[in-house]
Amino acid sequence: MSIQLKINTLREELRQHNHNYYVLDNPTISDYDFDIKLKELQALEEAHPEFFDSNSPTVRVGGEVTKNFNTIVHKHRMYSLDNSYSLEDLQDWETRVKKQVDGVIEYVCELKYDGASINLTYQNGKLFNAVTRGDGFQGDEVTANIKTISSVPLQLKGAFPKTFEIRGEIILPFDGFNKMNEERVANGEDPYKNPRNTASGSLKLQDSAEVAKRPLDCLLYGLVGNNFTYKTHFESLDEARQMGFKVPVEAKLCSSIDAVFDFIKHWDKARHDLPYETDGVVVKVNNLQQQEELGFTAKAPRWAIAYKFKAEQVSTVLNTITYQVGRTGAITPVANLEPVELAGTVVKRASLHNADQIEKLDIRVDDTVFVEKGGEIIPKIIAVDFSQRPANSQPTQYITECPECGTALQREEGEAKHFCPNYNGCNPQIIGRIQHFISRKAMDIEGLGGETVALLVNADLITNYADLYALTKEQVLPLERMAEKSADNLIAGVEASKQIPFERVLFALGIRFVGETVAKTLAKHYKSIDALAFASVLDLEQVNEIGIRIAQSVVDFFSDPENQEIINRLKSSGLQLELSAEKLANQTDKLKGKIIVVSGVFHKVSRTELKKLIEDNGGKVSSSISSKTSFIVAGDNMGPSKKDKAEKLDIDLISENDFLKMLE
Ligand code: AMP
Ligand code: ZN
Repeated sequence: MSIQLKINTLREELRQHNHNYYVLDNPTISDYDFDIKLKELQALEEAHPEFFDSNSPTVRVGGEVTKNFNTIVHKHRMYSLDNSYSLEDLQDWETRVKKQVDGVIEYVCELKYDGASINLTYQNGKLFNAVTRGDGFQGDEVTANIKTISSVPLQLKGAFPKTFEIRGEIILPFDGFNKMNEERVANGEDPYKNPRNTASGSLKLQDSAEVAKRPLDCLLYGLVGNNFTYKTHFESLDEARQMGFKVPVEAKLCSSIDAVFDFIKHWDKARHDLPYETDGVVVKVNNLQQQEELGFTAKAPRWAIAYKFKAEQVSTVLNTITYQVGRTGAITPVANLEPVELAGTVVKRASLHNADQIEKLDIRVDDTVFVEKGGEIIPKIIAVDFSQRPANSQPTQYITECPECGTALQREEGEAKHFCPNYNGCNPQIIGRIQHFISRKAMDIEGLGGETVALLVNADLITNYADLYALTKEQVLPLERMAEKSADNLIAGVEASKQIPFERVLFALGIRFVGETVAKTLAKHYKSIDALAFASVLDLEQVNEIGIRIAQSVVDFFSDPENQEIINRLKSSGLQLELSAEKLANQTDKLKGKIIVVSGVFHKVSRTELKKLIEDNGGKVSSSISSKTSFIVAGDNMGPSKKDKAEKLDIDLISENDFLKMLE
């Protein structure tokens, strides 16, 4: 088989598997086999850049960086939808529709997916661009980011017009949203508030590899263009499915407004079982001829209307307010409620966020409160029912001392939350920090779980993560549920973690705001913990992607004498506190201070390798040419607009070969 045929066959196969998995929810091979095929394709593409295809399944992993999103004028305006909040409103809408068109009217009911709207343009069956709604007339081009979403077809199947557009909603299903938040909390960051904002924020991330990590999905609801043959909206949905788009099957054809009411009544409850957020139902006139007769108002189609679900609300009594202390010492007040059923689950607790929120609501113990489940996953207290307030009620006094260790709480300028400054003596902080240290993405200590950490701390066997390395089998054996074998495993797991590379150790330390990516950046830049500990705020701020908040947090961490002592003990225990010799060997300062743009197709190394080479040698990769650009590594087929710009700004083009020579 020729290489080209092999590449095309793999692309076709992977496309089909992607479709089975992400659109049909019906995979036919294992994830493992899929990965093997993807890697095979990646290797072939790297070795044969002449067969490059910007819509190959390998682009799903991202990597392209967008500095400025281009503004694109929509060919067809993206209208908004009129809203209705009651069945009477809908009935009125039907009356208006019937006045304007003759004949039988059918409706299509769809769920109103709650995310960020997107317009996809396809040319010759390939995704050409993806543009946000913006103000309806023009939006931002976010194609590189959208390509990473696995359910968006990059290459269509079956029959399709040469050019057309399709609209849909980018959403973040609950599962993926929760996973992302678990990771954020593990990194000492605040969790995201709701899936919708997180989805729409994702579209404007500059690094598409970051977007690729987010489990986004794309649900389509409308073909646009005048070169189709179908006569009704319902048929168009099916046609879109045939081409490979993910069009939710909940969409239903209704022959009367009563059937529409039934659909709404059903989904008002059933929507709570869907894997993603919906905030209503969209009702559309099915017949396209009738749609055309109805036309548009200044702002929305007359042939469609949104029915908004009421966020379900209940009232219940606030029994107590308790305060939780997180790993970073942040205090979260929690409302403990008289259990009550809401949107299909029993609610017992709600977050009160911080002191300001309590003051704003003027919420007090024994108050009757209204609880709502809106876009947020955790139920929210909307308001107090003041008519029910007991006569002897007293305003809530926010705590001034840590509920766990009694230390006076602090609140920093600009921060919403109070926090307990007793970094090394407050139990939940100690336990949380050690749990983070041993977690999978950090030191990955096998044989030691979160509960055992709590047992060890409460038994006074450890008070920080350095103590783990002094633990003996005899010490841990008496613990609850600890047998000979599990004790051995624990000690062996701790021992094995001494081989974990420096960047992960740095992440494991649990320095506030130093997540996985920041830890990698810092490790690469400073190369050893000693150099990092020595860095000033100013120094740190010079590092790419490190802002004042992270810089200050790093300096604070290393200036604490107790932390210094802990680091010294980790060092004596033999942890990896500098980059390994092998990693260092590949790093130089040859490109220090250089800002380099990579453009075109390369033959000896892949684009990704090229970028890595630049970074390993101290240079910075930029995606756009500006007066700051030092030079451009130019491969074959460099875009004409880039060439023009380089010429105008008098920036050197360097060939792949010359560039590699530079590094020798
Ligand atoms: P609004 O933002 O309230 O004006 O509502 C209009 C938006 O609803 C559109 O821009 C779409 O992004 C979104 N939407 C969600 N689901 C659907 C659907 N099934 N049909 C049409 N629009 C939808
Ligand atoms: Zn405390």
